[in-house]
Amino acid sequence: KAYLYIVATPIGNMGDITARAIDTLKKVDIIACEDTRTSGKLLSNFGIDTQTWAYHEHNSEVQTPKIIEMIQRGHSVALISDAGTPLISDPGYQLVQAAHAANVAVVPVVGASAAIAALSVAGLPSDKFSFVGFLPAKTHGRVKQLQEYAERSETLIFYEAPHRIVASLKDMAEVFGGNRPATLCRELTKTFETVKKSTLGDLVDFVEADNNQQKGEIVLVVGGNINDVNDDLNVYDPLLLRLLEDLS
Ligand code: SAM
Repeated sequence: KAYLYIVATPIGNMGDITARAIDTLKKVDIIACEDTRTSGKLLSNFGIDTQTWAYHEHNSEVQTPKIIEMIQRGHSVALISDAGTPLISDPGYQLVQAAHAANVAVVPVVGASAAIAALSVAGLPSDKFSFVGFLPAKTHGRVKQLQEYAERSETLIFYEAPHRIVASLKDMAEVFGGNRPATLCRELTKTFETVKKSTLGDLVDFVEADNNQQKGEIVLVVGGNINDVNDDLNVYDPLLLRLLEDLS
């Protein structure tokens, strides 16, 4: 039987590829890649000479039915993106949706994703979180979207481009408040890996003061809004104390 495999690749450190990912990429008939040149380096690094097809947001409409047809004819296909887990701020949704519609089995070959790697080291509550991904590039749209998340109590995970990190941090400090805890996770698993937990206000200064912090790949993990809960406690505490006094 042929399958559509969704295969995670490393987010920087080549050692993070799994044995199963290598096996799968060797045995499938076609590897659909976001960028055949970028993935070519990864594949040659692991001695994988499987045929590659380009699959990205600009050709997904044409490629999706072709890939589904290949699988239906008995040829397995693996989807990879430039880094990390496909579909997570990366192409693939259309293909997986089409696979389900065509009754083609979809198999996850799990591995790295920058969002989960960042959450795992951020030192912020990890029991509930929302993955926001990339914010709009322009301030107006960005602030509007941030406002929608301002009252959320769960931890928020953002992807951000290095040339926008200062502007985004400033908007976040403005909308969420400079005291909101946040962790900057930069170049995870790579040579210049930085994990800095602080507040949004401090992170603005930290990143602005050092050009190196405005380079590479960045995940920003921001603590949720838990002020409301504290405010409620402040309101009810004296009341509870008086009630307790009355009861005793
Ligand atoms: N599919 C990928 C995943 O599973 O993480 C994400 C792809 S998205 C196009 C690229 C963004 O992911 C970067 O702009 C950055 O925000 C984040 N990212 C990827 N690799 C990273 C790394 N090594 N360190 C920090 N952030 C990373």
